[in-house]
Amino acid sequence: MSAAEETDVIVIGGGMAGAGAAFEISRSAKVVLLERESHCGYHTTGRSAASFTENYGNGVIRRIVLASRSFLTEPPAGFSDYPLLSKRGMITVARADQLELLAQDLKAAQALVPSIVAMTPAEAIQRVPVLRADYLAGAYIEPHSMDIDVNGLHQGFLRGARARGARIVTNAGVKVIDRQGGQWRVDTPAGTFLAPRIVNAAGAWGDEIAVMAGVRPVGLQPKRRTAFNIPAPAGVDISDWPLVHDVGAEFYFKPDAGQLFVSPADATLSPPMDAYAEDIDVAIGAERLERATTIEVQRVSRSWAGLRTFVTDGSPVVGPDDEVPDFVWLVGQGGYGIKTSPALSRVCASLIAGTGMPDDVARQGVSLDDLTPHRLRVSQFARVAS
Ligand SMILES: Cc1cc2nc3c(=O)[nH]c(=O)nc-3n(C[C@H](O)[C@H](O)[C@H](O)COP(=O)(O)OP(=O)(O)OC[C@H]3O[C@@H](n4cnc5c(N)ncnc54)[C@H](O)[C@@H]3O)c2cc1C
Repeated sequence: MSAAEETDVIVIGGGMAGAGAAFEISRSAKVVLLERESHCGYHTTGRSAASFTENYGNGVIRRIVLASRSFLTEPPAGFSDYPLLSKRGMITVARADQLELLAQDLKAAQALVPSIVAMTPAEAIQRVPVLRADYLAGAYIEPHSMDIDVNGLHQGFLRGARARGARIVTNAGVKVIDRQGGQWRVDTPAGTFLAPRIVNAAGAWGDEIAVMAGVRPVGLQPKRRTAFNIPAPAGVDISDWPLVHDVGAEFYFKPDAGQLFVSPADATLSPPMDAYAEDIDVAIGAERLERATTIEVQRVSRSWAGLRTFVTDGSPVVGPDDEVPDFVWLVGQGGYGIKTSPALSRVCASLIAGTGMPDDVARQGVSLDDLTPHRLRVSQFARVAS
């Protein structure tokens, strides 16, 4: 039997959260990242809409997004060969029965993102000619919403972590976590690892990891979201279309490598699993798209689903456990874990180093209380048993 490998910090999970944490923590500590699958990013991280909008998610999320923008705009030298953000824009649309909601939404949006402006239905149709004039009653645009190169960001984090000495171990599903003489002992099919600290970046499986470690879960709720691609309308150049989002969160669509990405914006509770698209959710998405646009969905080229994992208040859970401080949470990123990853990774590393909230994140108005697991305590095994 080979000897256990000792390190300073074990990160569990190789999605965007774990990769970002490994990148930031490995500046000052030895890191081993353990990923169950044969490649990192297989689960939610590889299934997103790749959107960077400052106008989606609760107030805490929006502030963390603002604190993440500069990293994405100007990543460290050598981080990525290509820009991580590219121009997209995002139009929020409303039917006549949603106009009141649109007005409230616009007011709240402009308070944080002043560049957001109202547009007439005619202006929206000019940008996205398939929108139906008899559907659309109002709209507003977030001009600086962007697309994110998700793979570029994820690989940049992993490559950067390796360059700083981190080890990324795949096919390393964590099976047992024990406490041994002030160290965590973590058993996987790829070996046994010892470290004084664990970072739990296991996404939908975060509460299962906590229970394994004898730590009380925080009540994670994985919710399935479906997406599918359809061919672009014949003869139409869609490459400059913005993302179109319904104000009631009933659907959204955007260009995606020459095709259209469509989602019914579903949020169905699910156990942690390798999520897949249900036919009914794809059909609902197609029906909502056809209602709002002149597109007739003839063929779905690909469909998939991923789990967006939330806690009750919709904010992420980041920081040392209040009862077991050597167990550090980095979960609950919901539908925002790509665009928030630069700032959340730094918050996680800074809390591990004992240096508190990074100044720039605090300046955006995010406090430790917004993120601490302490705010969420639920009885042990509650979610796992349900
Ligand atoms: C359809 C859809 C659209 C989205 N659009 C956007 C968007 O536009 N912008 C945005 O910012 N976000 C978006 N999101 C959300 C974003 O994708 C997630 O918030 C983010 O990917 C979560 O990353 P993660 O690393 O926490 O989780 P994951 O990527 O799921 O990674 C968790 C990892 O932990 C591993 N793991 C679990 N258990 C173990 C174990 N026992 N041992 C070892 N490893 C383990 C898993 O294998 C997995 O790789 C979207 C999500 C979906 C589904």
